[in-house]
Order: sequence, then structure tokens, then C-alpha cells
Amino acid sequence: MSKYKLIIFDMDGTLYKFDGSGSNNAIFNTMFYDEVTQNVVKFLSNKLFVSLQDAKKIREDIFERYKGDISIGLEKEFGLERELYFTNTWNIYAAKYCNEDVLLQKMLLNILTKKVVLTNAPQVWAKNALRMLGIADQFERIYSGEGDIRKPQKEAYLQICEAFGIKPDEVMIVEDEPQYLKPAKELGMTTVLISSSNLLSNESYVDYTLKNIYDLVKIVREK
Ligand SMILES: [Mg+2]
Repeated sequence: MSKYKLIIFDMDGTLYKFDGSGSNNAIFNTMFYDEVTQNVVKFLSNKLFVSLQDAKKIREDIFERYKGDISIGLEKEFGLERELYFTNTWNIYAAKYCNEDVLLQKMLLNILTKKVVLTNAPQVWAKNALRMLGIADQFERIYSGEGDIRKPQKEAYLQICEAFGIKPDEVMIVEDEPQYLKPAKELGMTTVLISSSNLLSNESYVDYTLKNIYDLVKIVREK
């Protein structure tokens, strides 16, 4: 029996890998995020009636000022609806970036603890990617990043504990970005970093470092 009542999984860089998994903000340097950015530039050009060049500048400015939270910035500065923004920019064909993962499917099935996904990406992309991996039906719920409550705000983690009626110290969280494990550890969760590099994290808020997610089953079963 596991001592955990719930496992929270990040998605991008955790349930499937890309270069740089294990370090903060690595997603911004992926081909995947390049595709999102191209979509954002086209979307802004259409909605704001500006050239692609100007749209690119607007995107960069918003990205800087809102620290990557583009949807929040565009809503505040230009009144663009988040829903419209996400469906136009993040509805990306997942096969280019991840594949069906039978090993992952089996590993998750072997962990009987309840599981949820907590991602700052929007629902539209989370669904595409989880379906492609073949694991969409293994999670009780997907907490995505359309709203104002996002990682690393503590509310993002606490809302899940509240919904499941459990305490943070009964939760394990699995992530590829150390910055999102810090608040979880402060709340009392057990933290697992997925990192492509061989280096163990020496941050005190990382309890375990795994080179790949397939090894998770071993630590879940530890007493
Ligand atoms: Mg991630």
C-alpha cells in the first residue's frame, strides 16, 4: 500500500520528455512552443489588424511583462478572450511532439493511487497530448492553466487537496520544473523531479530525482 492518497502529475516535460526536461522554463525553448508562438503571432495579426512583424513585437512585449502568461496579458491589455486565444493557438496536433507510450500506460495502471494532472497549459493541448500518449482515462481530473490560479501559486496546489478532501502531506507531486516543486514542498507534499540530466537535484525542496518517469512506481511503493 502506498502512503499517498493522490499523485499530482505535471504534463509537458514530465509525462513525455523534451530537451531540457528537469530545468525551469525549458518548454519555452522547444519546437512545440515555437509552433504555439507562430500561432500567437498569426492570431494577433488577425485580431488586432496589425502586420505579422508588429504582432511579433506585441507578443514579445506581453511575454516579457507577464512572465510567459500571455493569455492574461492579452486579456488585460487588448481585451482578447482567453478561450478564443487558447483554441486558436494551442490546438496543436500532438503526434509531432509525443507518441503513444505503452510503457507509461502500464506503469500508471500499476499505481493504484488516484492521479490528477496539474498543468499551466490549456485544456485543449492537455487533452490532445494525453490522448496521443494513450493515458487520458487514467486521471481523475485535469487542472489546466486557463484561469488566474496557476503554478507556482500555492492556491493551485491547495484547490486540489480541497477537492479531494486530503492534506498536502498525503500528496506526491511529479514535475520537471524545480520552480513548481518549491511551493508544493513548502505545503508539505512529497516532491519528485523528472530530469533528463544525470545530476541529482541538490535543492532541499526536491525529495527524489528520477531520470525518467517509468521509475516512479518504485518510490510510490516505498514506505
Ligand atoms: Mg513541465
